Amino acid sequence: MTASHPITVVGGGLAGLTLGVALRQRDIPVTLYEAGSYPRHRVCGEFICGRGIDVLHALGLYPKFVVAGAVEARRAVFCEEARQYRPKALPRVALCLSRHAMDRLLAEEFQRLGGELRQRERFTASPYPAGVVRATGRRIETRPKRIKWIGLKAHALGATLDADLEMHFLRGGYVGLCRLAGGVVNVSGLFAVNGPVPELASHWRDFLRGPVGSVLHQRLERAEFINESFCAVSGLNLRPARPEKASDCCVGDALTMIPPVTGNGMSMAFESAAWAAEPLAAYSRGERTWEEARSEIARRCDKGFARRLRWARWLQWAVFHRGTRAVLLELGDRCDWLWRAWFSMTR
Ligand SMILES: Cc1cc2nc3c(=O)[nH]c(=O)nc-3n(C[C@H](O)[C@H](O)[C@H](O)COP(=O)(O)OP(=O)(O)OC[C@H]3O[C@@H](n4cnc5c(N)ncnc54)[C@H](O)[C@@H]3O)c2cc1C
Repeated sequence: MTASHPITVVGGGLAGLTLGVALRQRDIPVTLYEAGSYPRHRVCGEFICGRGIDVLHALGLYPKFVVAGAVEARRAVFCEEARQYRPKALPRVALCLSRHAMDRLLAEEFQRLGGELRQRERFTASPYPAGVVRATGRRIETRPKRIKWIGLKAHALGATLDADLEMHFLRGGYVGLCRLAGGVVNVSGLFAVNGPVPELASHWRDFLRGPVGSVLHQRLERAEFINESFCAVSGLNLRPARPEKASDCCVGDALTMIPPVTGNGMSMAFESAAWAAEPLAAYSRGERTWEEARSEIARRCDKGFARRLRWARWLQWAVFHRGTRAVLLELGDRCDWLWRAWFSMTR
């Protein structure tokens, strides 16, 4: 049957672009609005892990990621300030690719398949009418008494790592190091702050290098940051939200954001896009109403993400409390099965 209603996607991050690709593969007319342009750096650990990798295979994107320079990650190591724990095999191989390359690749693929991409155009209608999907990224934390999170990211050359992925826990934050292609290392971190950070533009290196004496500081001692790759984000809202309660049809972080410590946000962006594609295609072909499509997508996302969001919230709380964090790291170091269980519960 031919499509009757076109779909509009607002937001050309991973969720919006992947949804655009999946809809174009079904011959659905799609227009995608992106406020920015490509290529661009994004705050992200650039470590894809979990079921999102199956989505990349199903959409035929995995080999394209590899051609664009994606590399596999097999081992992880955890460090807490000056202490390093034993390296661990990742229970599932992960894929690491710079967002600079990833978002551009997806944007090109969407256009190659006939999607209409409107870069540097902000979609402003409110509320969203039928046929419009929200893929606008993180929800902003507006409650004044909540912890304020900032996320920072930069690429570095010359860092020395003991594993493909390293997580460094510090006072008031954590920093992940992830090996990318060509000797580049992604350095990205989440930090709890009291309010706006004055002169962040000149202090970001201090945040990302960690305190003198920490393992992180040693790893980055001889490293040089690639200044143009630096980016920052604030106002992150890490409270899980129930998709069924949203009035718009949402995918990716617009739905709900999982704490970055899990390294599962990109996977959730791919998964939610894949779950949304068929109900939206059915709406477009006139086989479902907009409300039926919207609530089917919300139900699938609620069901698919509920467990990992619960565990991730707990894990985020635990790693920000020194006592629980030390116990967790110690237990994870001794019991491989426990580490594998945490890994699978958050993805
Ligand atoms: C510090 C940190 C580290 C992370 N590390 C990892 C990791 O290692 N692994 C992982 O899987 N996840 C990680 N994540 C999470 C991951 O980056 C996100 O979950 C993912 O980018 C979500 O994709 P998205 O498409 O929903 O949103 P985004 O990628 O944020 O895209 C949203 C897009 O919408 C556009 N937009 C917004 N409003 C409008 C509008 N009105 N009109 C037009 N366009 C609009 C924006 O310009 C943006 O391009 C991390 C996050 C942080 C903060």
